[in-house]
Amino acid sequence: MQYPDDGLTEERKALCTSVRELCARFPETYWRDLDAKREYPSAFIEAFTEGGYLAALIPEQYGGLGLGVMEGSLILEEVNRSGGNAAAGHAQMYIMGTLLRHGSEGQKEAYLPDIAAGKLRLQAFGVTEPDAGTDTTRITTRAERKGSKYIVNGRKVFISRVRQSDLMLLLVRTTPREQCQKKTDGLSVLLVDLKRAVGDGLEVKPLETMINHHTNELVFDNLEVPAENLIGEEGKGFGYILSSMNAERVLCASESIGDGRYFIERAVDYANARVVFDRPIGQNQGVQFPIARAYTAIEAARLVRDRAAELFDRGENPGRDANMAKFLASEAAWQAANVCMDTHGGYAYTTEYNIERKFREARLYLTAPVSNNLVLSFIAQNVLGLPRSF
Ligand SMILES: Cc1cc2nc3c(=O)[nH]c(=O)nc-3n(C[C@H](O)[C@H](O)[C@H](O)COP(=O)(O)OP(=O)(O)OC[C@H]3O[C@@H](n4cnc5c(N)ncnc54)[C@H](O)[C@@H]3O)c2cc1C
Repeated sequence: MQYPDDGLTEERKALCTSVRELCARFPETYWRDLDAKREYPSAFIEAFTEGGYLAALIPEQYGGLGLGVMEGSLILEEVNRSGGNAAAGHAQMYIMGTLLRHGSEGQKEAYLPDIAAGKLRLQAFGVTEPDAGTDTTRITTRAERKGSKYIVNGRKVFISRVRQSDLMLLLVRTTPREQCQKKTDGLSVLLVDLKRAVGDGLEVKPLETMINHHTNELVFDNLEVPAENLIGEEGKGFGYILSSMNAERVLCASESIGDGRYFIERAVDYANARVVFDRPIGQNQGVQFPIARAYTAIEAARLVRDRAAELFDRGENPGRDANMAKFLASEAAWQAANVCMDTHGGYAYTTEYNIERKFREARLYLTAPVSNNLVLSFIAQNVLGLPRSF
């Protein structure tokens, strides 16, 4: 199968090869077993951390690989293309950006080297709340400053990997919305030490979902967080979180591209091998055209993803391209997922073929970390200049 990988530098090709080699140690049976038991891929995450990949974006001065979002994208893409699920560890790559860009030098030195060395995991990102949903400025989880501490009360929902993480980046309201000039003011970011918080002001209630994602409902009841764990300035947290979102969009687009390539490769192999009516099913244009269409969509999304990553790494504003990449890649991966299911007929539904698991996992990117409707509203309002709807 032809992919336009020839455009990659030799270093990037070597990076993809080394990730592929690591992923080969974790075949699809590994992911299938974990999915059935709803267990976290600890062995994979340990190997992935040991290989330095989860610290790809941490600067070398803090013990990371000092690579760009383009390299981070290729790493996550390869994991999903291999049949794995990079979502189990991806958040560390983009959450770390908030700490890196807005944390104090003391905070960076205290945490980044240990994160890079795998001694600490920063895998949890607490934003979503039951009554706010997509309208983040409506969050009500409140942190009140009392002396040298913040006292946190409130609820969050769908907060992933809290039980597999040492640290959580938490978005809270420090000034009530009605006292703020702008609705985006008065939000702050705290770094929560989960090992101390759980059971002592923080209750974690696992949520069962259609994928193996380790997501939770959180209840904060007078959780004490040292004031020194505030990232940046109080009240400016919304901007800090937004600044990480472009990286998040590009990296999640890359997971979708990896999924898309996985589905297309599997569909092509099966369409060539499966014989019905005395010919390979792939000889029928009714089977081959949808695969070709999905391949075309994935490769187009990849080009936009590449442009977004290059803009990000050059320090230019990647907002438009990062959003378009997230939208195009998640839609194209979902198209490829359905085509792969159709190509495999009844066998697609058996867990043995792994496709139904990847199909469920690929669906998430239409909704999270941001729903595609919200991406379209960004393009409509901020790129096309159409009236704001909210
Ligand atoms: C498995 C999983 C893991 C997650 N992990 C995390 C995590 O680790 N941390 C975290 O903070 N969050 C996490 N989330 C939450 C995720 O980011 C949200 O589910 C997502 O942003 C959508 O929010 P919501 O579910 O409240 O939907 P709602 O805001 O209730 O929206 C419901 C639907 O209405 C649409 N909609 C709402 N308003 C508009 C509008 N103005 N115009 C057009 N359409 C609109 C939305 O697009 C969506 O389709 C996770 C979610 C899932 C499912």
